[in-house]
Amino acid sequence: MVEFKNVTKIYKGKTPAVSNANIKIEKGEFCCFIGTSGSGKTTLMRMINRMNSITSGQVLINGEDVNSFNAVDLRRKIGYVIQNNGLMPHMTIKDNIILVPKLLKWPKEKLEQRAKELIQLAELPESYLDRYPSELSGGQQQRIGVVRALAADQDLILMDEPFGALDPITRENLQDLVQKLQQDTGKTFVFVTHDMDEALKLATHIVIMHDGQVVQNDTPTNILQKPANEFVENLIGEERLAEAKHDTVQVQEVMLKTPVKINLGASLKEALVLMKERHVDTLLVTDDTDHLKGMISVDRLEQKYHKASGVSDILEKQLYTVKPDAYLRDTVDRILKRGVSYVPVVDDNHILVGIVTRSALVNLVYNTIWGDNDPLAETKTNSSNKGADSENE
Ligand code: ADP
Ligand code: MG
Repeated sequence: MVEFKNVTKIYKGKTPAVSNANIKIEKGEFCCFIGTSGSGKTTLMRMINRMNSITSGQVLINGEDVNSFNAVDLRRKIGYVIQNNGLMPHMTIKDNIILVPKLLKWPKEKLEQRAKELIQLAELPESYLDRYPSELSGGQQQRIGVVRALAADQDLILMDEPFGALDPITRENLQDLVQKLQQDTGKTFVFVTHDMDEALKLATHIVIMHDGQVVQNDTPTNILQKPANEFVENLIGEERLAEAKHDTVQVQEVMLKTPVKINLGASLKEALVLMKERHVDTLLVTDDTDHLKGMISVDRLEQKYHKASGVSDILEKQLYTVKPDAYLRDTVDRILKRGVSYVPVVDDNHILVGIVTRSALVNLVYNTIWGDNDPLAETKTNSSNKGADSENE
């Protein structure tokens, strides 16, 4: 969809704002440019719709050099959203949103219909079409700014730190809106931000800029798991790096390899003795070749002690198990939600190889989220209301 080939931008008398950028953005991607202030993000983006000229190299849209288009036509074919929405204060919301379709000379009925569709997409009431921008909250104005970029059904939408001026709650609502619009329409989005949380929430593709250089150009997962250098690591932050590391932890790395188990042929007396010896209230039951057959609990054992003869008579066969090579991130929630104290780990042949205990998981989760800090102290500060205005107020 968009391709940068050896693109360099030098403003007069300065060091390059963008140096030799090579980036390919596929159709339907949500691509975030992220980096510190002055790293060249805006410049890079504005070379796509030729709001900035290209010093050397090429920017291609669907294989065609942007310089081969008429610049005004090109800009109308690409949606553009900026930080302070750029709405015209003396025009109604309706006139603001249909500005580009009007310039493209759409017939009147189509314009009317489009205005109604767009206000709906913005999740605002139709009556707002007749209002002026100043009669809307900052968040509502930016909702209009966002849908306006889609007004002429542009396939490519550029957004330059569109939510930078909004409070955190409104910002999250707008991120949700943009994400939904992108997923529903399948359009290609290029989005500049300096906020890693925003990039990780929205992006399917991240380009990290530093001093005009593209330092990493990859998927969010790869960036988290294989940061290209220290600059990227710092941008991601220690907390997220730790989290990402845990993301690749497998069950076998945290499992206990010596579960307390008993043979299927054992007597209830043997089971009871073993439970007492090892201070456990359940035993995993295996056959002679270590295949997991089920488990027995002390409650049931005591209930049936005089009626049943062996372990196999009181066996509970329905057991939730995990595989050793499963990722913890995929299993931890299910394990914790089940409220069990451990989960048996079995290999592909259903041979018991270990257990994952609830306490091991809880430790791991706490370490990931809170590091060395006291979790309770941390929760208290987070729940205090910081007084952010919500968009609907
Ligand atoms: P970012 O969007 O990442 O903050 P920019 O692309 O705006 O970065 O700027 C990159 C570099 O180019 C900065 O050093 C900035 O000062 C410079 N720059 C941006 N626009 C201009 C301009 N119109 N004239 C001269 N220098 C500029
Ligand atoms: Mg910028």
